[in-house]
Amino acid sequence: MMDNTSKKLDGSRIAAEIRAEVAAEVAALGEQEVIPRLDAVLVGGDPASMVYVGSKAKTLAALGMESQTHRLPETTRQAELEAVVDDLNADPEVDGILIQLPLPEAIDTASILRRVDPAKDVDGFHPENVGLLQQGRPRMVPCTPAGIMEMLRREEIEIAGRRAVVVGRSDIVGKPMAMLLLHAHATVTICHSRTRDLAAVTRQAEILVAAVGVRSLIGPEHVGEGAVVVDVGMHRITDRETVERLYPGNEKKIAAFEKRGAVLAGDVDFAHVLPKAGRITPVPGGVGPLTIAMLMANTVAAAKTRRE
Ligand code: NAP
Repeated sequence: MMDNTSKKLDGSRIAAEIRAEVAAEVAALGEQEVIPRLDAVLVGGDPASMVYVGSKAKTLAALGMESQTHRLPETTRQAELEAVVDDLNADPEVDGILIQLPLPEAIDTASILRRVDPAKDVDGFHPENVGLLQQGRPRMVPCTPAGIMEMLRREEIEIAGRRAVVVGRSDIVGKPMAMLLLHAHATVTICHSRTRDLAAVTRQAEILVAAVGVRSLIGPEHVGEGAVVVDVGMHRITDRETVERLYPGNEKKIAAFEKRGAVLAGDVDFAHVLPKAGRITPVPGGVGPLTIAMLMANTVAAAKTRRE
């Protein structure tokens, strides 16, 4: 039996490995005078989006890549945003385009995502890339599920023939996750807000992916003995009582809370699920860093493919 520490799937460490590989590829491309470039489009001033875009730009720079952020006001019209996307599509220097979501309500998000050149669609949200993934011919795969698959592969977690349950059916995480697991020969079930007796379904999972957006929804009653639990959720907890309830006796968490006034938690009630799980991703330090690492990998892949 594994002790609780070695059960943790260390997303930060695996992400660092992926980043190092990406940096080596960037260096090799540099010898051919190619510097991969990822441009982000940020509409409005959503503070979380600004943080995400800033941290992506920093990582790109650290790996030797270029990036530009195109900041547009909240009042930007559809046609103006389309013109920005068209310019980036046409710019031969730009390898990847990232439309930071959510866009303001007045914008038709699906139509903007369709407008991005599929060859530069590093998020894998364009219908052409979604279709290729569905057909088992993946080109650009959404970064979060791609990162989870990379982690399972590197940790030598068997997928073929196993029962996988994905909670959540978003286009960004749940659906592509289920598709990737299916192509890796798992027997896949997708759950959502209309699923009856969620715990009875998730308890069957040998691999359980929670991408729900509801803090601590997945408790020990949802998890079968020895399951691999992957937590995609990301929530800020800003009250001490909740931190103490979620992490009983965890002095480190309380100290982190006192220092920063908040701690992050996932869709899984980590401390209470840990004794039951076979392996489990923590939040933070699990899926989050893998997502950013895969964005970097997708950008390099786009830079290479466009020049083939
Ligand atoms: P989303 O678009 O809100 O989708 C949530 C899904 O969960 C929906 O399919 C919804 O069902 C389902 N759901 C909601 N409540 C449920 C319940 N009580 N029981 C069962 N299913 C339920 O969210 P998302 O974009 O996939 O993101 C999910 C979470 O992951 C969020 O916390 C987000 O912040 C986080 N996230 C993290 C990363 C990362 O890098 N770590 C990346 C992306 C997202 P319906 O379809 O029926 O509404």
